Amino acid sequence: LAVPDFEGLSADLDRMHREILPTRSGEVAGYIPQLARVDPEQFAISVCTVDGQRHSIGDSAVPFCVQSVSKTISYCLALEEHGVEPTHQHVGREPSGQSFNELTLNRTGRPHNPMINAGAIMSCALIRPEESLADRFDHVAQTWQRLSGGRRPGFNNAVYLSERATADRNFALGYSMRESKAFPESTDLKETLEFYFQCCSIELDAQMLGIVAGTLANGGVCPLTGDRVFSEQTVQHCLSLMTSCGMYDFSGEFAFTIGLPAKSGVSGALMVVVPQLMGICVWSPRLDELGNTVRGIELCRKLVETYQVHPHAAV
Ligand code: GLN
Repeated sequence: LAVPDFEGLSADLDRMHREILPTRSGEVAGYIPQLARVDPEQFAISVCTVDGQRHSIGDSAVPFCVQSVSKTISYCLALEEHGVEPTHQHVGREPSGQSFNELTLNRTGRPHNPMINAGAIMSCALIRPEESLADRFDHVAQTWQRLSGGRRPGFNNAVYLSERATADRNFALGYSMRESKAFPESTDLKETLEFYFQCCSIELDAQMLGIVAGTLANGGVCPLTGDRVFSEQTVQHCLSLMTSCGMYDFSGEFAFTIGLPAKSGVSGALMVVVPQLMGICVWSPRLDELGNTVRGIELCRKLVETYQVHPHAAV
């Protein structure tokens, strides 16, 4: 067994959930009107080991939008389709040192990395550009379904419409990348942005996102179905960029204190991967100033207090 004392781990997570529940600091994301309306008290934790042991706590069956967590999967899809170097002709792989929607590109006019908005818009531009938007979205949704053990993800149309209606910043990033000729030729900018908003509005619950994290921990093979969704190399690259860039402008601090590949989203979602061991999803909507879920970060802190999960810890 990957985690021999899974009952002990489950009991520890139950305790951490209880201890963190009273934390009410932070604010729900306000800049996407529909996201501002979710119940901020909700809190879920779900884990899935590489051999399929699972434990879920709290609001783990309540769906939420993946938001920026989608950036991981869109990047993996771009890599699988084009390979590493062709993908990275369009997007960098350095942390930006700035917030997720900062109006900035790197020295070559490319997005800094795929884990911030500009880079994720670019990943979307690279996913089956020759197909219809319907087929492209189906491809992404089916990939999420395979990653999460076969359950079909939802789609929050209200969030999608709301985000599309208030998207000046993302349009500005898109135009700026078009100006610097960062996109592949014949990219339709408006369609690409719509596709990006749709990917952000895909809905999973914590149980499903925990399984997705477990699939990444397991090198791209879903622990529940044995389905190989991504190659080991694709997952390795994605985890590398999650480690260096996955937590917005908190990525360096997170790498220092926690050390694990992780990706957060403005919905309060957080996906954490313990490679070769397990995936963890934490979801709670209140965010700190940098846009990360307050309770999610808290859980990660407790996790490294209790277990030697930091990859550079001298065991
Ligand atoms: N859909 C959000 C946006 O583009 C995603 C950002 C996020 O989760 N940080 O603004």
